[in-house]
Amino acid sequence: MLADLNGYVRFETEEEYLNDPDLKHGQRLHIKNGIKSMKNFVEFNEEQLYTLNQIINKKLTEDSQLDDNNQAERKPRNIDSIIRNQRLVRKVKDLRDNTCQICDIKLKIGPNSYYSEVHYIKPLGKPHNGPDVLGNMLCVCPNCHKKLDYGFMRIEVKLTNLPEHKIDKQFIEYHNKRVIKNAT
Ligand SMILES: [Zn+2]
Repeated sequence: MLADLNGYVRFETEEEYLNDPDLKHGQRLHIKNGIKSMKNFVEFNEEQLYTLNQIINKKLTEDSQLDDNNQAERKPRNIDSIIRNQRLVRKVKDLRDNTCQICDIKLKIGPNSYYSEVHYIKPLGKPHNGPDVLGNMLCVCPNCHKKLDYGFMRIEVKLTNLPEHKIDKQFIEYHNKRVIKNAT
């Protein structure tokens, strides 16, 4: 079985897997146009997405406990909002092609894969209570993400806006006034 964050492709036999026209077997498996384009691709249903999210969130919680506990608390949210949130996160990363909106870096982590994170300009949760909407989300690299989280970097108002992803200025102003500590 092959899987990514959107869904999976299942093979009944090893032969089927080895002879699939969309796969190139080398030292490393190469999927011509991504799993999603394959004939037998099955998109995860809401319940499966939920389970997946629970696993990811558990990992995130463990990671943030390793951090120095200054992070905004990660409150359990209801299923709908978790799924919605994951869809928006994926959408922002896709629209921005995994490129950091602050420093323009596109972090390559494999032959065909890139890594990016999504930052909520007005942070979710207390005390900021920012909203879970596209206009409050930025696609960023891990370095810029940490600087923004720690309030060590201002956000320029003139960020590139895309028709499907416009950044709401009020959140940028909020960040620059209320989240910033000692930006240089
Ligand atoms: Zn960056």
